[in-house]
Amino acid sequence: MNNLEVRSTNKKRIINFLYEKDNATKQGIANSLHLSMPTVSLILKDLSAHGLVRKTGTLKSSGGRKPATIALSYGAKLSAGIEITQNHLRFVLIDLNGNVLHYKKVRELFQNDDQYFRKIAEYLKNFIAENKVDPDVILGVGIAFPGVINTKDNILDYSPTLKIKNLPLNIPAKYIPYPVMANNEANLAGFAEIWKIENIKNAVFLSINKGVGGAIIIDNKLYNGSNGRSGEFGHMTIVKNGLTCSCGKKGCLEAYCSTKVLTEPNFNDIDEFFAAMKMGNQYCVEKWKIYLDYLATGINNIHTIFDSDIIIGGEIDQYLEQYPDTLYEKLSSFDSFNEPCRYLHFSRYGDKASAVGAALLFVNTFLSD
Ligand SMILES: [Zn+2]
Repeated sequence: MNNLEVRSTNKKRIINFLYEKDNATKQGIANSLHLSMPTVSLILKDLSAHGLVRKTGTLKSSGGRKPATIALSYGAKLSAGIEITQNHLRFVLIDLNGNVLHYKKVRELFQNDDQYFRKIAEYLKNFIAENKVDPDVILGVGIAFPGVINTKDNILDYSPTLKIKNLPLNIPAKYIPYPVMANNEANLAGFAEIWKIENIKNAVFLSINKGVGGAIIIDNKLYNGSNGRSGEFGHMTIVKNGLTCSCGKKGCLEAYCSTKVLTEPNFNDIDEFFAAMKMGNQYCVEKWKIYLDYLATGINNIHTIFDSDIIIGGEIDQYLEQYPDTLYEKLSSFDSFNEPCRYLHFSRYGDKASAVGAALLFVNTFLSD
């Protein structure tokens, strides 16, 4: 490594150190990272000039000058995330700590044409402006797609939900005046859910919307599989010769646990379904029971394979969280090890998780490159 590389590496190490530890001192940084005080001072000066660190106070002195405490300014850089769905767009702006500073959801039907992608860029520009965010602090824009992304060739291979195949990702990116990265919505949501959670290193994320997908996280990293198709839990077969799935196969989990199973043909969306159930609609109550039977089967299969925490996200998440007892009962009855079902968690970012995960791509790059 040449001097410049050494300095850049040390800078990243200091940023990462501060990321884990608020209120550090120069001496503390130097000791922990085995760097000299002049090196630490120089780098902190540079970071401070870019607004990335701030003084938070002073420590009591044991004689001599009181040492100043330093923290990272999480708001110095922001990242934007966009989730594209069949009918909506979600926008988030997050800081370096993954806090959602601004959020917006707009109804916009997906169209595979220039006009649509130009509109997304226009929405983004307005979203940034209406929240009075300095466009220069934005690191980049992550996009979450409901489909299989080939990150190597930068192509959206296919998306049954959007009904498209082989979309080069430079097409949606070309109107956006920032660096753009894209990935699959469930992968990104899973990535967001375990972001900087100390005690979760391995987890499976199960995303339940109109489509059912997921992500596998091992040692805090996404496990992509050989073809980027890992964690497609929606297409596990749970009923032999069962109902036809959106993928064309029969008996997939998605054919039984998509939110469409609950909403079609009587309700416009999941909120309407649960509003009716709350009013005591027996049709909904029965449907929900059957739905949970299949969902528990799917969750139990996933848990049998991974023996890890399972995080449930997507549209269904908030409702499962409201009515968890039946699901827990069903899961306990499956469990051959007779353990209480402590492995099941509900999403922390809710329906924003995919957009947040997309935005985190740039935070992650910022911290690790
Ligand atoms: Zn399927």
